[in-house]
Amino acid sequence: MPQIVADLLSDTLTRPTTAMREAMARADVGDDVFGEDPTVRALEERVAGLLGHEAGLFTPTGSMANQLGLRLHVAPGREMVADQQAHVVRAELGAAAAFSGITSRTWPSVRGRLEPAGPMSLVTTGVGPYQVETALVVVENTHNFGGGTVQSLDAIREVRTATRDLGVAMHLDGARLWNAHVASGVALADYGTEFDTVSVCLSKGLGAPVGSVLLGSADAMAEARVWRKRYGGGMRQVGFLAAAGLHALDHHVERLADDHERAARFARACAEAAPEVVDPATVETNIVVLDVGAVGLRAAAFVEALLERGVRTYAVGPTAVRLVWHLDVDDAGTAAAVDAATAVLARA
Ligand SMILES: *Cc1c(COP(=O)(O)O)cnc(C)c1O
Repeated sequence: MPQIVADLLSDTLTRPTTAMREAMARADVGDDVFGEDPTVRALEERVAGLLGHEAGLFTPTGSMANQLGLRLHVAPGREMVADQQAHVVRAELGAAAAFSGITSRTWPSVRGRLEPAGPMSLVTTGVGPYQVETALVVVENTHNFGGGTVQSLDAIREVRTATRDLGVAMHLDGARLWNAHVASGVALADYGTEFDTVSVCLSKGLGAPVGSVLLGSADAMAEARVWRKRYGGGMRQVGFLAAAGLHALDHHVERLADDHERAARFARACAEAAPEVVDPATVETNIVVLDVGAVGLRAAAFVEALLERGVRTYAVGPTAVRLVWHLDVDDAGTAAAVDAATAVLARA
């Protein structure tokens, strides 16, 4: 395999910076199952404050944070509704059904963008013993498989208003909420307080090696803490992991704008070489999806051709290729990706 000069496979690939490792090494720790890890507690309190919630719960993965959130709201046999391309229905391996007995229905969308009619066409309540009752609407922001789409606060508020009176809860899969916040300028708490529970990842664009946080009411987080232990997610002296998250909050949030700018730069260059493969206006954050079918290529062939030039990307469909910018891809890496992609597109 050629040497990789730009690894755009995923924003989960980041390695902790030297400064982050130093912060981790210095962390004060204790047994978090007994609630005695001061750094974990500091992280949970800080993220809860940022998102406008009472309490937080540190989890090893975003999937666990989401799954704890879902089960708090949905009793076995009841229903959650989500976007067709949502991470909770496509990429958590059926966990909502396997662990919590949750049934799911999904709405279609363009690039994952939330339109209130999507969930509201599905939400079903007051149907007694005849049909499954909807207990939860899940919103993903930014939308991963949609290509980093930022959700509109107005659309979220409209769904919130419509579901609140029906007793239907809302969960936000905010794995990349940091990107949405930086791109839109909407305060994290303005997004957060529209939801009963929120999950955020520290290990994507923020560059921590591991960790997510679930946010909600103090009662909800106490219940989630019990289920986290039941799932095998009760961890001990993990303050050194929480310290990575705290360091990321101090140093790696505002810089997400650099990732967004580089992704946009790449998309503009590709559109210049082949206007059909990407509309730069659809690149809102750190993710670019190219439709290489528009120039007669298969995704697998494009991915292979870029890999030969040291640029790693990901085929997300037969003709769709995803590229994700992050902390470990700089201007030089972006230039290499531009050179490789435009050369392959020009030849097609
Ligand atoms: C990455 C991601 C998650 C969590 O994934 P883990 O690998 O379990 O940490 C959840 N939702 C979205 C949208 C994601 O992109």
